[in-house]
Amino acid sequence: MGVGALGEPRYIRARDVPTFAPLAGSSGSRVGSSPLQTEQHGTKRLEPSSAKTLTDVGIRRIFSSDHDIFRESARKFFQEEVLPFHAEWEKDGQVSRELWEKAGQQGLLGVAIAEKHGGIGADILSSAIVWEEQMYVNCTGPGFSLHSDIVMPYIANYGSEEQIKHFIPQMVAGKCIGAIAMTEPGAGSDLQGVRTYAKKDGSDWILNGSKVFITNGWMSDVVIVVAVTDREARSPAHGISLFLVENGTKGFIKGRKLNKIGLKAQDTAELFFEDVRLPASALLGKENKGFYYLMAELPQERLLIADMALASCEFMFEETRNYVRQRKAFGKTIAHLQTVQHKLAEIKTQICVGRAFMDNCLQLHADKRLDSATASMAKYWCSDLQNSIATQCVQMHGGWGYMWEYPIAKAFVDARVQPIYGGTNEIMKELIARDIVSDK
Ligand SMILES: Cc1cc2nc3c(=O)[nH]c(=O)nc-3n(C[C@H](O)[C@H](O)[C@H](O)COP(=O)(O)OP(=O)(O)OC[C@H]3O[C@@H](n4cnc5c(N)ncnc54)[C@H](O)[C@@H]3O)c2cc1C
Repeated sequence: MGVGALGEPRYIRARDVPTFAPLAGSSGSRVGSSPLQTEQHGTKRLEPSSAKTLTDVGIRRIFSSDHDIFRESARKFFQEEVLPFHAEWEKDGQVSRELWEKAGQQGLLGVAIAEKHGGIGADILSSAIVWEEQMYVNCTGPGFSLHSDIVMPYIANYGSEEQIKHFIPQMVAGKCIGAIAMTEPGAGSDLQGVRTYAKKDGSDWILNGSKVFITNGWMSDVVIVVAVTDREARSPAHGISLFLVENGTKGFIKGRKLNKIGLKAQDTAELFFEDVRLPASALLGKENKGFYYLMAELPQERLLIADMALASCEFMFEETRNYVRQRKAFGKTIAHLQTVQHKLAEIKTQICVGRAFMDNCLQLHADKRLDSATASMAKYWCSDLQNSIATQCVQMHGGWGYMWEYPIAKAFVDARVQPIYGGTNEIMKELIARDIVSDK
């Protein structure tokens, strides 16, 4: 089952992913009977601009027919296991534990983590499929992308053999939920300003401090904590380390689930560390190298935010297209109004332009050629686009767009955080600009 330069998608054998029948009433039914499914990577796949819908399976030249099979199974999972329960989870402020385990059984966690480390062993494009399918059901509750493609890579890339063996298989199974705690009440954009401090005590460490806005924080079983380990270092960046702190460790206290304006089913929390005694084996990677690890891993975090932002744009476009075709005003559907038609034409064009750049970034990252500034461009541009399109799509829904029962209302509030987290868009512009004006 070759997919050319992308490498063999081992997930199909590793997890026995079932090849579901095409989804009734969805784009899947077209793919089932389409010759595209037999095409190999890069050949004769439709571009989004020419496809029936922007969320069709079987389009975009970065994917292969093997990816399509995986997408079908991910789509079925999100439609059947997430969408029907999400409203309840919004009230709870978190998803269920059972969902995490079901996602693990389905092979949707740790997709791009190497098989030798206990991961599924597929490529990053397969991870992107999971990110996108989650946005296509407009359900932001499950923190799968952070768990699989932000937290797990730190453990796989910098962890000891013991740490990898202990955490990765459980995380892939959805039995151990991961989080990463960088931000503090007094330090967000300026990561070098963190105050959480880990002091050496023999071979142990004593951790003190607090973190805020931590995704998966309330449900987390393991948290990567960013802490200062050398206050005398020549710059703060040279004195930061990462620690793996497990739920239940004495002195590790979870604060409240934060009351956000969006991401209602996402358990974002405060975390406190009061004289937490950690063994030497809790240090992740080398002492005082934490900042370098963060710099190396942040581009993937930005890439996934960008891709999820663009997938949300695709969702909102299709949702609004369907709405305007059935909503009537002045005896005709509002899709007959030229102002609405032009608005949709503009939005579709913007999404297709953005998708071309985004897919290029995904391919570059799959080839290990994505640089930090380019990832920042994708994050800033796609998350701004998401917010602009959300505003316009709500407008085309009229008053109904302001009602929580309407998916577009939820997409609108959920979009707002995207230019804020993962490094604000102002910081993204700083990173892009640094390259532009650098003399090197
Ligand atoms: C829902 C949610 C989930 C999150 N999840 C996590 C998580 O899992 N883990 C984690 O560690 N963090 C997480 N965060 C934190 C997030 O990454 C920070 O909120 C973000 O980095 C901004 O930091 P701040 O809130 O302290 O804002 P500040 O740093 O105080 O920024 C305030 C404003 O000043 C601007 N600003 C600051 N410095 C500059 C500069 N040099 N140039 C130009 N403008 C500047 C910013 O762009 C912003 O507009 C999450 C946040 C939210 C809201």
